Amino acid sequence: MGELTWSPENPEFNHIKQKLLEYYVTMNYANSQLCINAFERVARSMFVPNGQRPHTYNDNPLPIGHGQTISAPHMAFMECDALDIVPGDKVLEIGSGSGYHACISAEMCAPSTVKPPEWKPLTRYYDESIYEDFSGKTGEVITVERIEPLVEYARTNIEKAGYSDRVKVIHGDGTIGYQHEAPYDKILVTAAGPEVPDSLKQQLKIDGKLIIPVGSKNFYQELVLIVRVSENKWSRQNIGGVVFVPLIGKYGFEG
Ligand code: SAH
Repeated sequence: MGELTWSPENPEFNHIKQKLLEYYVTMNYANSQLCINAFERVARSMFVPNGQRPHTYNDNPLPIGHGQTISAPHMAFMECDALDIVPGDKVLEIGSGSGYHACISAEMCAPSTVKPPEWKPLTRYYDESIYEDFSGKTGEVITVERIEPLVEYARTNIEKAGYSDRVKVIHGDGTIGYQHEAPYDKILVTAAGPEVPDSLKQQLKIDGKLIIPVGSKNFYQELVLIVRVSENKWSRQNIGGVVFVPLIGKYGFEG
């Protein structure tokens, strides 16, 4: 793959974006340096519908139409951080929505190699030396969305932000995973299911990780981290309470 670049954030958001990232670091949400860098690099304002743009860095979900939301920035942050996505990883996302979360994942598994002109880090937490350890490793993201107009919305946003060379959007029911490209190093589900779909566990590589909110429809869920320890063994850990839109499909809730 050639040079990979990203589009800069509109500077009107710099101050509040900086404050938010500093807050995540102080709250110990930020364990992955790659996740911190990705948060700085990906322009969230490109994924928010026009009328919602002033609220880009409010730390809550925002409507994107069709009854769906772009998750709160800390949710995208927590999921990618906990998955510990690294360059070279093949990542499957279920629930493309706006495409933002997919691009944060892409910036972690296939980091951009070229900076937009005039770009400067917002915080002292940004660290470019991390990429030396992974030079030449380029992964990819496959993201599945069930609502057709959102497939188009995500594709357009991903293209504008500069990630269409690393992110592929598929229309379908993500509760069955995406066998065609399996196995995956990391799987992230950005909608809440009643249980962990076995199909997704089966599409993980050994040592691969899966993160998914599990619980009730439209109310309260636990974020669950699964690790495939061996061919027939998976570990399971609850990492905190969350609220996500429902995962609707064959191994999710009924529509
Ligand atoms: N990751 C998104 C968050 C989107 S909200 C972002 O960064 O904006 C969750 C998304 O999951 C919604 O777009 C919803 O339509 C989608 N979804 C729900 N069930 C699904 C399923 N079975 N397969 C694929 N997408 C699903």
